[in-house]
Amino acid sequence: MCSMCAIKIFKIMSVLGLAGFYSVPLYAKTPKEIVKYQETPKDGNACKSCLHFIAETNECKTVEGSIDPEGWCSIYFKLP
Ligand code: SF4
Repeated sequence: MCSMCAIKIFKIMSVLGLAGFYSVPLYAKTPKEIVKYQETPKDGNACKSCLHFIAETNECKTVEGSIDPEGWCSIYFKLP
């Protein structure tokens, strides 16, 4: 499987809330490098408007570490 296919599958699984159950142990999150995390927005999209962002703690439900509200990664999913 190519890396882009893996990212797309992970993105779909994360949106469905399944990524934590199928790809990694329950206590682990995905390393920033895997999802190409960056500390700047991309195409006007940023973590602060992502479904996975936890504003209270500047964390992400699926990506490990401190997350900048102005950051972005490849599994970004815009809040409805
Ligand atoms: S865009 Fe930001 S909040 Fe959304 S999944 Fe990626 S790191 Fe998490």
